Amino acid sequence: MIRVNHYNGKTVEIEGPKRVREILKQLGVLENTVLVARGDELLTPDRTVQEGEEIELIPVISGGMKCKVCGQTAVISLPRHNSAFCRDHFFEFFYHQVKRGINQFRMFTHRDRILVCVSGGKDSLTLWYVLSQMGYNADGLYIDLGIGDYSEASLEMTEKMAETLNRRLIVIPFGSQKMPIAPLAKRARRTACSVCGTVKRYYFNRVALEEGYDVVATGHNLDDEVARLLGNILRWNIPFVAKQSPVLEEENGLRRKVKPMFRLTEQEIAAFAFLNRIQYIRQECPMSRDSTSLLYKRALNLIEEESPGTKHFFYLEFLKKSHIFKALSSDEEPRGTCTVCGGPSLTEVCSFCRLLRRIEKEEQSMKQPLGAETTE
Ligand code: AMP
Ligand code: ZN
Ligand code: ZN
Repeated sequence: MIRVNHYNGKTVEIEGPKRVREILKQLGVLENTVLVARGDELLTPDRTVQEGEEIELIPVISGGMKCKVCGQTAVISLPRHNSAFCRDHFFEFFYHQVKRGINQFRMFTHRDRILVCVSGGKDSLTLWYVLSQMGYNADGLYIDLGIGDYSEASLEMTEKMAETLNRRLIVIPFGSQKMPIAPLAKRARRTACSVCGTVKRYYFNRVALEEGYDVVATGHNLDDEVARLLGNILRWNIPFVAKQSPVLEEENGLRRKVKPMFRLTEQEIAAFAFLNRIQYIRQECPMSRDSTSLLYKRALNLIEEESPGTKHFFYLEFLKKSHIFKALSSDEEPRGTCTVCGGPSLTEVCSFCRLLRRIEKEEQSMKQPLGAETTE
């Protein structure tokens, strides 16, 4: 039997010998959504796994064939580029894509101080690693959201990377010192993901302003951007479509925000992380994930499997044509400032300060002596 350690946590036994492609088919897993590893080695779909061997499915990608550049055995195939690469040429491709993204949108230069928002996941840790290797001046920011073991494990991964890179890591102990996301969301009657988004956006900007960083970088990848674009288009939300970009310029008290890995897919990033032995948290966030974005990613992967290059074309062509959407939604955006924190806000008090007020109220009512309400 072949032992298959599935990333869903289950172990499945399959009769061998068998090609990777057939194993995935039998398990109903799309080829472009996983990496298959045997120990330290990545296997392309045409490789055969023998009886008694053990393989691991890592949520990413893989393929077959020979390296397009040097003809050696490929570790990854990229059907969307009609290519396959050996380890070294894959790295070359990867750095080239990041460089192209940075240059195309003039994201930052080697003189800028970059704040990389790191979650402990593969995307943001890879981004921090890659920018450091490219000689950029990049520090890390980790926001502890108080999601139990998940937050502890992700902080550990992030601290390890800071040590490896010998860079500064700023940690905001929001969950442990103020309030964990789950009870906060419950009190605010909002979803955990939306409260989490508010808290993250607030600190990304505030830390960058207070600590003098020129630009905030996040690990969003091509799959993230394509899923968001599809979601916005399905709802015909033209102002959101018009605003979607790998760069959000500095405006109205907001630091410039960039996504240097928008040209790379989730699979490519996972493969890069694996091959560079970047330790990251494999577990998904246990809070209720934004299920529509996962649905769009699934749908897009299905299309991609049949028609490689669709995601890439959809997003990169959009970027060339996004001026059309900008012209359609030319209304000036309202601007304002939060009367509590002075940060950017469309309402009198920004959504982050409203969350803080809720926590304070809660604390005050807990401090009140027993029976205080009845004696008034
Ligand atoms: P997500 O919204 O979880 O898909 O994450 C998008 C990006 O936000 C990641 O690639 C990171 O750059 C950043 N990020 C997510 N969670 C955190 C966190 N807890 N602390 C700092 N940055 C984060
Ligand atoms: Zn090669
Ligand atoms: Zn505020």
